[in-house]
Amino acid sequence: MLILISDAFAADLPDRLAPLGEVTDDKSRVADAEVVLIRSKTKATREYIDGAPKLKYIIRGGVGLDNVDLVYAKEKGVRVENTADASSIAVAELAMTLMLGAINHVAAAHQGMAQGKFLKKELKRTELYKKTLGLIGIGRIGSAVAERCKAFGMTVIAYDAYVKESNVAELQPSLEDLVAKADILSLHTPLTDETRGILNTEILAKTKKGVVVVNTARGLVVDEAAMAEALEAGQVACYATDVWSSDPPPAECPILGAPHTLMTPHIGASTAENMGRIGDIVVEKLTAYVKEG
Ligand code: NAD
Repeated sequence: MLILISDAFAADLPDRLAPLGEVTDDKSRVADAEVVLIRSKTKATREYIDGAPKLKYIIRGGVGLDNVDLVYAKEKGVRVENTADASSIAVAELAMTLMLGAINHVAAAHQGMAQGKFLKKELKRTELYKKTLGLIGIGRIGSAVAERCKAFGMTVIAYDAYVKESNVAELQPSLEDLVAKADILSLHTPLTDETRGILNTEILAKTKKGVVVVNTARGLVVDEAAMAEALEAGQVACYATDVWSSDPPPAECPILGAPHTLMTPHIGASTAENMGRIGDIVVEKLTAYVKEG
């Protein structure tokens, strides 16, 4: 059995998988691979799957499966699984980092200091305490963010198209209800046909003026052109995002040139601890797969 490690995983994973089969990171060998391990870089499209006739199992180290053609994989009998539970803490902590970084102007303060500007009077911080956090999506990561924000003394409300009960947030009947009440919005849905562009011109116009938006979900859940306009107009005070329409974003990405942004290069899952947890789950899954024969 050839196991192709196609994206970045923990450095010790090849050694841990060696007892189970031949392990390679040579992508040109995809045609011989029975198992492919991917994160978000490899796109397991129809063409990719057609180029791997021996493929039986794709494991996505991480959560979103929007980089896999799930329908075609099923048609071809390729099993696809993710390591859904591993990343919640890492992503929730980055969401908190972006939220706190945005309202405390950490990037501008740092840049000022580095350039010899002491912006003590100019930079007006705000607090999370007693503010309302609006979560769009209250699954694993949304819930982890809710718990952390409650510890900051925030009121936590959420809109989720499928979840009808929550003990960590007060659920709202619609996205419109949510955005009308939230001081900070944090996105935690997968990218699907329903969620693509869910934060668009129409919805952004219904937010409180000066709302802060944190996105650690997927870039395309936000209509980036609409967001850039809302930032220019001051409707959104800051768009703090880890995620993009592609990795890296194209030069013409409207967010790159927009004012009042805080940007990270899709590092939500990239903690050493999370890479370790993902590695553990991959080893567990492949050990079971080999046992199944
Ligand atoms: P999850 O499946 O536990 O939660 C997603 C929630 O979104 C669910 O409760 C679901 O009901 C809800 N949802 C689906 N469609 C919706 C809609 N139309 N409107 C409102 N809610 C909707 O997933 P999770 O583990 O919390 O992860 C959420 C997303 O975070 C992933 O799908 C992935 O895109 C993203 N993610 C990003 C990073 C990163 O590096 N920044 C890392 C991991 C995950």
